[in-house]
Amino acid sequence: MLILKFGGTSVGIAAHCERALEIVHERATLDPVVVVSALAGVTNTLVELCRATETRALLLATLAERHLEHVRSLGLESEVVNPLLSELRDDPALFAPETPIARADRDRVLAFGERLSAAIFAAALSARGTPARAVHAGEAGLVTDDRFGQAHPLPEADRLLRVGLADRTRVPVVTGFIGSTSDGRTTTLGRGGSDYSAALVGAALGADEIQIWTDTSGMLSADPRVVPEARPVPRLSFAEACELAYFGAQVLHPKTLLPAMERGIPVRVLNTARPADPGSLVTAEAETSEKGWRVKSIACKQGITAVTIASTRMLLAHGFLARVFEVFGRHHIVVDLVTTSEVSISVTVDDDSRLPQALAELEAIGRVEVRNGLAVVAVVGEGAPTQLGLAGHVFTLLGGVGVPVEMISQGASRVNLSFVVAEVHAARVVRLLHRGLGLDVEAPTLEAAPGA
Ligand code: ADP
Ligand code: ASP
Ligand code: MG
Repeated sequence: MLILKFGGTSVGIAAHCERALEIVHERATLDPVVVVSALAGVTNTLVELCRATETRALLLATLAERHLEHVRSLGLESEVVNPLLSELRDDPALFAPETPIARADRDRVLAFGERLSAAIFAAALSARGTPARAVHAGEAGLVTDDRFGQAHPLPEADRLLRVGLADRTRVPVVTGFIGSTSDGRTTTLGRGGSDYSAALVGAALGADEIQIWTDTSGMLSADPRVVPEARPVPRLSFAEACELAYFGAQVLHPKTLLPAMERGIPVRVLNTARPADPGSLVTAEAETSEKGWRVKSIACKQGITAVTIASTRMLLAHGFLARVFEVFGRHHIVVDLVTTSEVSISVTVDDDSRLPQALAELEAIGRVEVRNGLAVVAVVGEGAPTQLGLAGHVFTLLGGVGVPVEMISQGASRVNLSFVVAEVHAARVVRLLHRGLGLDVEAPTLEAAPGA
């Protein structure tokens, strides 16, 4: 069986949506389960709807028109979306117009994006001769904890999904991004979380492959918005793809690969608009290239904050590091890079919303300095960092253009060399390294995907 996940641009642009419907139709004999995101832009509008206190009526009208227009362009009746649009309009959370919508109410409202999208996609598939049904992931077994906005699947989700999706006589079109608590309240898995949903469903059902259909022909050698000449990377290991996703390659949600890794299920990233392109295949093994190691891709995460804590004693006192990390841990602050010197430790965090509370406590441990407006750049390729010369090559290139490097971390992962620069230099640095490390040269192609 096959998981086919279609992102917002794949389902939300009429021409692409027709391609997506064909892709499923052509694979109907391979026991497909479809996972869909909300139509492109809809989750952002729903986020705005929750925040806005004055423009709700206008935003609701925009959302209704967007879906009705999409339904019409696919030749479907408005009845496909009308019940859900009414349910959204009548949602009790919208009746307190002066208060922003938060927590459980917010997740319930955001979920309408994926619910509407699944309803449309299932109706369109059925209308084109592939019987399908829309499925609310939470109702099909994707149970989560109640951390609204960032919910985690519960261990029993696996078994429940197997039961909930056992009947595949009509192709299940499952909502990405959302789940339910055990007592039936809708949750969301974090922005971009539909990829993660696809992986969770794929792992639960023991899929032969998880296919992520998007708007690029695979995972590319850099973000194409930064490096227009970026090329698809034909093969990646789970470790490489994890690092890229974690350090900003938006094409895969960072949590996507874990369920696939645990079950050894290949993940393939494909282009809905160009379904014949081979895309990228992500598996446990790294590519064995005749040329030996090779940097495959460069990712970049902006909006990073660095915190440096200097010990007030001359040398790092016994227990100093433990005390520092205990503070970060207790405040649930995720630390990305860490570097230490004899008297100080620097860490980077990408979500600094909880930092103010932690800073007061860190100041009791040492002298604290906070720098904002930074970016982490990650140069990824299995084995590449440990090969003689990569670090030298990278920093020579940066030195040549006079970009100062704030922190360097050659991860124990053997997969990635990462460093911190000022955000203003980030795009230039990625472009420079892409060219300087030879990523603009053509990479070998890949055998065709199942069902292609
Ligand atoms: P979807 O709606 O299909 O989930 P996303 O917008 O979430 O798609 O992710 C695809 C986008 O990710 C691409 O259009 C591209 O702008 C961005 N991106 C960033 N880094 C990469 C990369 N290394 N390879 C491919 N796409 C990338
Ligand atoms: N629709 C959700 C978002 O925009 C989930 C996704 O697209 O993966 O964040
Ligand atoms: Mg996405």
